[in-house]
Amino acid sequence: MMKKYVFAFEEGNKEMKASLGGKGANLAEMKKIGLPVPDGFTITTEACNQYYVDGKKISDEIKTQILDYLLKLEEKTGKKLGDYNDPLLVSVRSGAVFSMPGMMDTVLNLGLNDQSVEGLAKLTDNQRFAYDCYRRFIQMFGDVVLEIPKYKFDRVLDGQKEKQGYELDTQLTVEDFTHIIKEYKQIVKSEKGFDFPMDPKEQMMLAIEAVFGSWNNDRARVYRNYNDIPHDLGTAVNIQSMVFGNMGNTSGTGVAFTRNPSTGENLLFGEFLINAQGEDVVAGIRTPQKIDELKDALPEVYEQFINVANKLESHYKDMQDIEFTVERSKLYMLQTRTGKRTAFAAVKVAVDMVADGVITKEEALLRVQPSQLDQLLHPMFSPDALKDTTPIAKGLPASPGAASGRVYFHSEDVARQKENNVECILVRTETSPEDIEGMVAANGILTARGGMTSHAAVVARGMGKCCVAGCSEIFVDEDEKYFRVGEETFKEGDWISLDGNTGAVYKDKLKTVEVALTGDFALLLSWADEIRTLGIRTNADTPNDAGIAVKFGAEGIGLCRTEHMFFSEERILNVRRMILSGTLQERLEALKLLLPYQKEDFIGIFKAMGDKPVTVRLLDPPLHEFVPHKDEEIRELAKDLGQTYEFVKYKIDNLLETNPMLGHRGCRLAMTYPEIYEMQCIAIFEAAIHCKKDLGIDVKPEIMIPLVGHLKEFTELKGLVKKVADQIIGETDITLDYKVGTMIEVPRAALIADEIAKEAEFFSFGTNDLTQMTLGFSRDDSGKFLPEYLKKNVFDKDPFETIDQNGVGKLITMACDLGKQTRPDIKLGICGEHGGEPKSIEFCHKAGLNYVSCSPYRVPIARLAAAHAAIKNKR
Ligand code: ADP
Ligand code: MG
Ligand code: MG
Repeated sequence: MMKKYVFAFEEGNKEMKASLGGKGANLAEMKKIGLPVPDGFTITTEACNQYYVDGKKISDEIKTQILDYLLKLEEKTGKKLGDYNDPLLVSVRSGAVFSMPGMMDTVLNLGLNDQSVEGLAKLTDNQRFAYDCYRRFIQMFGDVVLEIPKYKFDRVLDGQKEKQGYELDTQLTVEDFTHIIKEYKQIVKSEKGFDFPMDPKEQMMLAIEAVFGSWNNDRARVYRNYNDIPHDLGTAVNIQSMVFGNMGNTSGTGVAFTRNPSTGENLLFGEFLINAQGEDVVAGIRTPQKIDELKDALPEVYEQFINVANKLESHYKDMQDIEFTVERSKLYMLQTRTGKRTAFAAVKVAVDMVADGVITKEEALLRVQPSQLDQLLHPMFSPDALKDTTPIAKGLPASPGAASGRVYFHSEDVARQKENNVECILVRTETSPEDIEGMVAANGILTARGGMTSHAAVVARGMGKCCVAGCSEIFVDEDEKYFRVGEETFKEGDWISLDGNTGAVYKDKLKTVEVALTGDFALLLSWADEIRTLGIRTNADTPNDAGIAVKFGAEGIGLCRTEHMFFSEERILNVRRMILSGTLQERLEALKLLLPYQKEDFIGIFKAMGDKPVTVRLLDPPLHEFVPHKDEEIRELAKDLGQTYEFVKYKIDNLLETNPMLGHRGCRLAMTYPEIYEMQCIAIFEAAIHCKKDLGIDVKPEIMIPLVGHLKEFTELKGLVKKVADQIIGETDITLDYKVGTMIEVPRAALIADEIAKEAEFFSFGTNDLTQMTLGFSRDDSGKFLPEYLKKNVFDKDPFETIDQNGVGKLITMACDLGKQTRPDIKLGICGEHGGEPKSIEFCHKAGLNYVSCSPYRVPIARLAAAHAAIKNKR
């Protein structure tokens, strides 16, 4: 049997997204539930993939099916494509499986040519309308299909408006359009060397090919990379008969969300334009009206629209993002999809829908992406900073958050600056899909034009990026690279700050404050806690960080790095004294000076954590990291230590290693200088005893030995820990529950995990080092080649960001299994950077770890990600 590559809207439904794409599947679904959708058909994603298999050609088989469905559409509508008297006009619309706003371009009014435009004029008795459609068609077709730069057409249109002294497009007359069309055709001829195609079927096939081709354009690829969408899905193409929003004052076009996509408030939210077509609203050509105003403009249409919106939301059980057109007071639905929303809105909508009994708690949890929560944890401008300053301008609060940065006016400039770690704000008159790279790289986005549903607003919300749109008080000159507001001019590189919650734009860089975990957010996370099985700990080195993490829901510390305590000013000298000491005796004396500090540190941490477990990692980094390397600093240090410069210099030079990552660090330090760990253990256990005995805190210290690769390393150092512990605890009459375990970060440790588990009470996977050593990629040097590896898809994702499951992950799973063989109740955790990354968290859940540990601000993200993992991997 022949493969079916084309489906009429009435043949599809919302489950068929994989082949019909999101747009096509939802058009079919809307048709199914009786909503007014103009007729049409969808060419499948399989046809797109076949197009690439066939060397970028639409095969005869597929062409035949398309023409067959065109015929059916002509029969249904009673019109014929390109007919001189009553032409069928269609839109050619791309539609990928996942909605990709602005990625693929749509061509409207296809089927018009020099003859059919006359037919349309006569039929509608509206010459102006017909010629407006025709010029739009040539312009869109020229841009999207023929790839002629858009500005060439814009220049003609703007030129004509200027010549005639018009403000608005709506003032253009038939004569103007006739002239514009002539010029447009001239552009096509001179750019392409052939005439604008007059045969409607040829127009259609070219447009379909262009949509297929656009699947692989740069901006589509950038968007897919950013959103983790596979590159081999292909896009569907929808051919739909046109309805016209530009037929006068009872016609119009608009977009709406069934709830507010910024705040989640349960109120219809959207914009429309009277007498306009297609993307006029989104493109910010005229300032659109609020959807409420449709009530006055076209009351019956408004009422019908409200009903449709309600019907759609209850049918899909989620907030919908709707595109519609009104043709002479008749409403048509042109698109619906799950609405993109801010994290704040996502949480509110999910919680509200549970309260209304529409969805379950589990569904609600899955509605919020863990990575999205980042937005809610982002700082806001401090009220104090705001008190002393007034906005220089105000735009629309298009996407929340607070952002400061230096202004840049071109996407490429932002991307380039970002590579040098310059914080940027992208400022433009309006954004377009070409700007996607800069939008990704910018801290925030400011546009002078466009509404709440403009490209900038929609894309920024999707990315969770702060955006102020439609800030009409500013004038942007992208060519000269400045923007002006009132008397003031901001040049490239100047600082500004944006408040995406209020739309305010400020001069300079403003101070920010932290946010709290309350309300709907706290409620949703409490549901996550009910469902998840994975424990969530935090990586914290100070009482302050530990306190923040506990507030965010951390159930313990998975990694407390003791070396961070060594750097503060009053200690570093003694640390250096210890490192550079000439004899054991000197070293012991220096350590003795450090002991009280370390003890204070641990008391602070134990107090912050209460009865929650605290994993303390004994000293890990190579010692040269603690000493100065500049000559004058070395001289100063020598003076402070009462040593000669030559001696100190000699000692420091001796610490330098060719490959410190694989050098004298971790437990190897203690194999040579056991007194260092001994001092740390004294500090830990004295602190613990103090907390338990004097403060009544049921502390649970877990001592972790880093970088173990051999059982004998572990047994020797465990012996040292036990000796100190037994002695200190022995001097008191209390019992202290403590554990001694190891990090698994050297591949050899993973290989002999069964041996190590005989002695170690817990494993914590240090996936940063484990990744470095398993891959043989130095984390500090991989920047030179890793980007190329990612581009070439050697790795889908940066293995330092998300666990390389096939490689490093295999070692982890194996080590878990081996460990459990010799110690069935061994505690397993992860403390690498990966512990806060949702995909890696799901992996940890599946691998059967007891907990993940991540930085304090990632704790809420990890709680939700762990709940997702539990829901998705239910047995
Ligand atoms: P995008 O994927 O960029 O949203 P669409 O395919 O949805 O592109 O097309 C953009 C806009 O063009 C629609 O919102 C709608 O206003 C207009 N449009 C598309 N097809 C038709 C049609 N058949 N009749 C009238 N307007 C249409
Ligand atoms: Mg578009
Ligand atoms: Mg659309």
